[in-house]
Amino acid sequence: MRKNIVAGNWKMNKTLQEGVALATELKNALATKPNCEVVIGTPFIHLATVSELLKGSCIEVAAENCANKASGAYTGEVSAAMVASTGATYCILGHSERRAYYGETYEILKDKVLLALENNLKPIFCIGEVKEEREANKQNEVVKAQLEGSVFNLSAEDFGKLVLAYEPVWAIGTGLTASPEQAQEIHAYIRSLVSDKYGKEVAENCSILYGGSCNGKNAAGLFANADIDGGLIGGAALKCEDFKAIIDAF
Ligand code: PEP
Repeated sequence: MRKNIVAGNWKMNKTLQEGVALATELKNALATKPNCEVVIGTPFIHLATVSELLKGSCIEVAAENCANKASGAYTGEVSAAMVASTGATYCILGHSERRAYYGETYEILKDKVLLALENNLKPIFCIGEVKEEREANKQNEVVKAQLEGSVFNLSAEDFGKLVLAYEPVWAIGTGLTASPEQAQEIHAYIRSLVSDKYGKEVAENCSILYGGSCNGKNAAGLFANADIDGGLIGGAALKCEDFKAIIDAF
């Protein structure tokens, strides 16, 4: 059975001290095990401290990115091996902000996914269309190309280690959420693509998260759908109370 997951993405927010405070608050708030897996994605410099702090808790830690090279003369980059050495277990890859602002192509992302997997990190691989593509009804072809370009090269065994996150770019940080019907429709399509490529069992076991202005008010309506297995949360992951409200939707 696939897992339900609520994953936070702090992006470039929180100093180390603020991050430690939020992680501590979350750990205390989730002392009673929630009905889903909980992951927090933090900036690189927080990973080691936050992973140590959350050891033995029900909260897993994710990096928000990793390098597309294994090691060497790449000043300022952080490798998948370095991420794994902090105790983090997940790595968010392919976020639309990385694609848009840092030129992450299908090929670059393909390499990042392979390196994350080689280092036993579970990628949370983000896909989703921009507003113009949704308006032109091209969302299905966009997500198909993103999957084919960066992750459909994987073996079924490796693909099984991925979590997918459908994030319509027009809904990220905008307050515009995809309706539960819109989200369910494309999540079902994404699962059908996985099924066509890897078979029904792999598709049924694949967690597909929704991301884009998800909050404590709309989460339950989204998560009630058969193919929506949780959320990737930006803004609402920055406050314990807001994040916990989404977790409590399960
Ligand atoms: C995100 O950036 O992954 C995201 C879903 O952001 P927000 O929840 O703020 O829309």
